[in-house]
Parts: sequence; structure tokens; C-alpha cells
Amino acid sequence: MVLVGAGHAHVAVLRSFAMLPVAGVRLTLIIREVDTPYSGMLPGFVAGHYGFDDIHIDTGPLTRRAGGRLYQDEAIGLDIARRLVLCCDRPPVPYDLLSLDIGSRPNTSAIVGADSYAIPVKPIDGFLTRFEALRARVLTGASRHVLLVGGGAGGVELLLSVERRLRRDAGDRDLRFTLVSGGNDILPSFPAAFRTRFRAVFAARGIEIRSGAHVLAVDEGGVTLTDQKRIEADEVLWTTEAAPSRWLAETGLALDSGGFLRVDAGLHAIGHPEILAAGDMVSFDPGTIPRSGVYAVRAGPVLAANIRARLSGRQPRRYRPQRDALYLVSTGDTHAIGTRNGITFEGDWVWRLKDRIDRRFMARFNHLPPMPGDTDDMRCGGCGAKVGALVLSQALATLPRVARADVLVGFDAPDDAAVLDTGGPDLSVQTVDYFRSPIDDPYRFGMIAANHSLGDLYAMGAEPRTALAIVTLPHGPEDKLASDLAAMMQGANEILADAGCALVGGHTGEGAELALGFALTGRVGRRSFYRKSGMCPGDALILTKPIGTGTLLAADMRGQARARWVQAAIRHMTHSNRAAAEALVGFTVHAVTDVTGFGLLGHLLEMIKASGVGACIELDRIPILDGARETIARGIVSSMQSQNERSIGAVANLAQVRLLPLFPLLLDPQTAGGLLIALPLDEAGQYVVALHHAGYAHAAIIGAVTEGNSLTITPGT
Ligand SMILES: Cc1cc2nc3c(=O)[nH]c(=O)nc-3n(C[C@H](O)[C@H](O)[C@H](O)COP(=O)(O)OP(=O)(O)OC[C@H]3O[C@@H](n4cnc5c(N)ncnc54)[C@H](O)[C@@H]3O)c2cc1C
Repeated sequence: MVLVGAGHAHVAVLRSFAMLPVAGVRLTLIIREVDTPYSGMLPGFVAGHYGFDDIHIDTGPLTRRAGGRLYQDEAIGLDIARRLVLCCDRPPVPYDLLSLDIGSRPNTSAIVGADSYAIPVKPIDGFLTRFEALRARVLTGASRHVLLVGGGAGGVELLLSVERRLRRDAGDRDLRFTLVSGGNDILPSFPAAFRTRFRAVFAARGIEIRSGAHVLAVDEGGVTLTDQKRIEADEVLWTTEAAPSRWLAETGLALDSGGFLRVDAGLHAIGHPEILAAGDMVSFDPGTIPRSGVYAVRAGPVLAANIRARLSGRQPRRYRPQRDALYLVSTGDTHAIGTRNGITFEGDWVWRLKDRIDRRFMARFNHLPPMPGDTDDMRCGGCGAKVGALVLSQALATLPRVARADVLVGFDAPDDAAVLDTGGPDLSVQTVDYFRSPIDDPYRFGMIAANHSLGDLYAMGAEPRTALAIVTLPHGPEDKLASDLAAMMQGANEILADAGCALVGGHTGEGAELALGFALTGRVGRRSFYRKSGMCPGDALILTKPIGTGTLLAADMRGQARARWVQAAIRHMTHSNRAAAEALVGFTVHAVTDVTGFGLLGHLLEMIKASGVGACIELDRIPILDGARETIARGIVSSMQSQNERSIGAVANLAQVRLLPLFPLLLDPQTAGGLLIALPLDEAGQYVVALHHAGYAHAAIIGAVTEGNSLTITPGT
């Protein structure tokens, strides 16, 4: 079962699956932005009454509670015959049952220049970014006249909120606001008394209304109307009637004349009962329904019921849209005007009522009640599933070594990879890594696993050559296994191919959980390979990527990480270390390792021991992934953390730093972590600049190598 979009109807479907899961059904949500906005509170956010998290539903915990997988991506088409969702940035996603709730956007198609010069209110994430830029222009005096096109409830409420916010922020700067509406009046589908009240608010605030005005074109200086009149403006906002996504037209599905997807009374696409849809994007065959959030919300439970009906072979329910709805529209301050069944009312109490209803709605999705069986006792995947250093050293201590002259780096002085002299001009480098998937996305997991394995070769300064894959697939229907395997190997192969590394074979078996690893070979010049040893007093220590994947992935498993934190962590894990290693050429590299399962502290201690020196690091300088501070403060750690804690005895000033809030992050196991590099201090700044240019925006000097043999940690400034 695949859901595309997390509009107002789909969040109800996710909640329904979270409260009452359906055994044997695998649910996948494909969503462009993981924080899904609630448009009813958008004007309140613009006006400054709400924060970002107040008006967004976090789809991460919700999807996880529904037992689903979350793919952050944009659907760009459907292959109906092969039952595939085509995505912007990943292989096609197969479905047996599909549900669409991707909303709409303001119609700008017939207006010259609107796409370039107007700011559409949807998609809302894009609007929020552009509104911030607009606000900055107003505050600097670059813009003074804001014009909004669209006289519906969304446009009226938005302009009043924009006006309140900008006048408040810009003080007594002389600002002008205009609303342009094609209809004879604003709010054409609302009762006359409601319109009158809003016109009075506009008049009291000096906001001009230009009704009966049809915009023909938009340009840098304002808009031109169909009667060739000009309205000069510095900013043009666009909230006209809804238009559907353009790609629907290429799917072959039945659409109405406006391009909206036709659905029957049970919300099934006409002629395709395996595709359901709701919200602004549909054209309801049995009758007209307004394109408003109220109706999308009301469709949610019917959609959920009919998805269940389809899965269990039961009869679907009819969606019976209500005849009238309660509308509460704010005036930009803490005041609102409402209407229901032709009656209108107004007051600060109406805003408080709206606020209460909206917050209660959001809490239904952002704060799910605990369920029986919820547990914090989970074993991590990724590098959090690695066996601790102590267990390894105990188990392998007495293992007899086979001495071979061609093994230059092996068991006796272990490093990130083994180095062999095979007699050619270069040396051969070998490494292996393998772990359970820490995420529910086979394609991205493939990328992460390949990146993680390649990290060992890059830490040695080696050029990757070949890869053998080892795969474990959980039991499941053959077609699902095949599609997961294909997606995972495609992800892995993209990373390997980028590294110039040929996938030459592998082995696949069945097991309890999805796991992937690679045995890699690479080559390196006889004098140019890096080791963990070799650090010199006076070197700077540089970390190329932020840390925190262990705690974030552990929090995600418990449904306690924001989806945007997890997606950002995934972006870091899929970011190759290749460019960081290539940028080292020309620098005096003394030592390198890649930071993985033993955490920053464990890997640094290995370098200290191997180099026979000491080191000092500053906590405040260490780059940290968004959200990791919060999850570690809540005590959420990877299952490997306790094993990593056994190494902390080597910290010289442990008593002073142990209780610092960020200290546990030093022990956090990293999956596909960055490189830790020791370079002479006078070269370090230049290398960090090179890293920033190469896309490692968080790379930083985190400390220095010292005399002695201990590690000191300072809190920093
Ligand atoms: C300023 C403003 C205020 C409004 N206020 C109200 C109000 O108070 N009350 C009311 O009833 N209505 C209001 N509306 C109307 C309301 O916004 C829409 O009717 C409602 O959002 C439609 O819901 P939906 O479920 O169809 O889709 P949406 O809420 O628009 O959600 C669509 C979802 O699909 C995702 N998506 C889109 N395309 C893709 C893709 N290709 N691939 C993957 N994901 C995708 C988006 O990220 C989003 O999560 C307002 C509109 C505006 C502009």
C-alpha cells in the first residue's frame, strides 16, 4: 500500500493505521516535505502567532507508528500498467494499492510572468521561504507595496496576516497593501454579511480592494490587468483558484476538464479501484465539493475505511460531503470572523475558538497516545549494531596469526583496512563491513552501506576498485523481495559507481532483517597510504562530517525523532567521503581514520594509542547533526553506547567533563561517519576551506594533537 502526499486526508489514514494496524500490509508514504503544513494555521504563522512546529504535522513518528516506511521524494508520474509510482530522486516504487492526496497549487498557467515574478502560496514550504525573503526586503526598505491576487478565504486571511506582521515588524515605515480579485467582491462563496465584515476590516486598515480586476501578466514592477490598466507593486502574492499537479494529465487516469482526478463516491479513481484519492486534487463525480481543507479532513476517515475495505475485500463506504461547514477566518490579529449556515459572528473569542480547534486537530497527529507494546528496548541497526571493541579484543586476543611477508597492515597493528604487497607498483587494500539496516528505505540504505564500507578505503587514502556484496533479505512475497533488493542494490551501485568501484559479485541469503555489507578492494601507492598512527604534537584534528547518527536513529526507531532530523542525518550518511579524501592530496597528512561504530572518542583514542601522543578536543567545536542534542538530552542512545562507554577511562579529565550534556555524543556510534584527520596546524585552515567548497559544510577543526598520551576534553567557549 503506497500513499503519495501527506495532505489533510492522508494524515487521517496514517493515524488510522497507527491506532489499528492491518497485519500483513506494508505501507509506504512518499512525501515531498516531511513536515506537512496545516494551512488553517498558516496565516497565524505568518502573523507571528505560531512557531514552525505548531503548524506542521511531523510525518516521521506518525508513519513509524503506522508501521510504514517514509520516503522523502516527489512523485512525478505513475506507470499504471506496471503499478509503479515514478519519483524524482529514486527508483520507481511498486504498489498493489495506491492512495493519492497531493493537494493543489494556485493556478498561474494562463498568466504571463506569474511563475517568475509572483509568490504562490503553495507549496507552502516554498511560500514560507519566499515570505521570509519578502519580509527582509520590506524591513530594509527595498519593498513597500505588497499586492495579493485572489479574493477567496485563503487570500483574504493571508493578506490580513501579512499586513499585520509587516506593519508590526517595519514600525512606522510607509507600507501599502492591495488585494486584487477577479470577482465582483471578495469572498464570493460566502454570505453577504461575512463579506461586509471583512470589507470593514480592510477599510479600517487602509488595504485597497480592487475587485472585478483580472490579471493578465505579472512582471518585476507589478501586474497588468486585462483592460491594460497597471497596478504597480513591489511584491505579488498569488492565491487564486486551485490547479492540479500537471503530471496527472500524463497518467492516463480519468480527469475532469480542469485536470482534476475524477473519483467515485468511494473515492476510487474512475476505472481504477486500486487507486484512491482525496483532497483538493480530486473531482468528485457524484457532485461538487469545495476545495478546502475542511472537506479534505472529512474525507480522511472515509478514505481510511475504503483502503481497509479494499485490503480485506469488504464493501467500500460512500463519502457524503457535508452541505455546509463552519468557517473561522482570522483577521491577522487575535480576532476572527466566522460563519455557519448563513449566520456570521466575530470577536476575539472566535479567534480563541479557532485556535483551540486547530491545536486540538494538530495534537491528534503530533501527540499520539501510547500503545500497548510500546517499548524502548530496541537493538540498533547501522553501526549501532556493531560489536563493541572489548568483546572483539577479548575474542580475538588468542587467535593464532598466520605470518605472511606480503601482509603490511593486518591483525597485529589493525587499521581501517588491511594492506597487502602483491608485487605490483601499488599496494592492495582490503576491507569488509556489514550491518542491519538502520532505516526503512532500501534504496537509501544501499547508499549508506556502500558509503560506510568505502569510508575505510578513503581513510587509507586508497582508490576503490572492486566490491563483493553480502545481503540478507527478510522473508516476504517474492515480488516485494525483488523490488527491495533491486532498490537497495541500485542505491549501493550509484555510490560504488561514483567511486569508480566495480560491483563484481556477492551473496544473498534470507534472514530476520534487511542487512547489507561489502568486501572491498582498493589500491594505494607504496608511500602514500594513511594510517591511524602518525599524529604529531602540534597537528590540528579535523572532522569532516557532523556526529549524532546513533542517537538520532535510535530515537527514530522509538518514533521520537523529528522526520526532518532523520532525513538530514540520511543526507549526511549518503554523502560520500570521497571528495574529502581527494582534497587531502597536496597536504601533509599525518593520520586519518573514519569515524564509525566506536564513536568519535573511541576512534580518536585508537589514533592516540597508535601514534603514541596525546590530544585535546573542544566539545563546542564538534559539528553535531540537527536534533542530536535534543535526543541525547532525553537520554536516547544507541544500543552500542554502553559498550563504547568502556573506553572513557582513558579521558584524562573525565570527572570534569563526564556530566556535560554533549559528552555522551562523543560515544555515539556513527554510521557512514566522516573522516578524522591530523594535519599540521598551519595547513588545517586551508584544508577546511577546501572541505567547505567540496560540500562538507559542517567540517571543522575540533582540537589538536599534544605531547603525552592522554586525551583531554574541554567544553569550549
Ligand atoms: C492561506 C491559505 C489558508 C487556508 N485556510 C484554510 C482554512 O482555514 N480552512 C480550510 O478548510 N481550508 C483552508 N485552505 C485551503 C486548504 O489549504 C486546502 O484545501 C487543503 O490544504 C487541501 O488539502 P489536501 O489534503 O488536498 O492537500 P494539502 O494539504 O495541500 O497536502 C498535499 C500534500 O502532498 C504533498 N505533495 C504534493 N505533491 C507531491 C508529490 N508530487 N509527491 C509527494 N508529495 C507531494 C505535499 O507535500 C503535502 O504534504 C487554505 C488555503 C490557503 C492557501
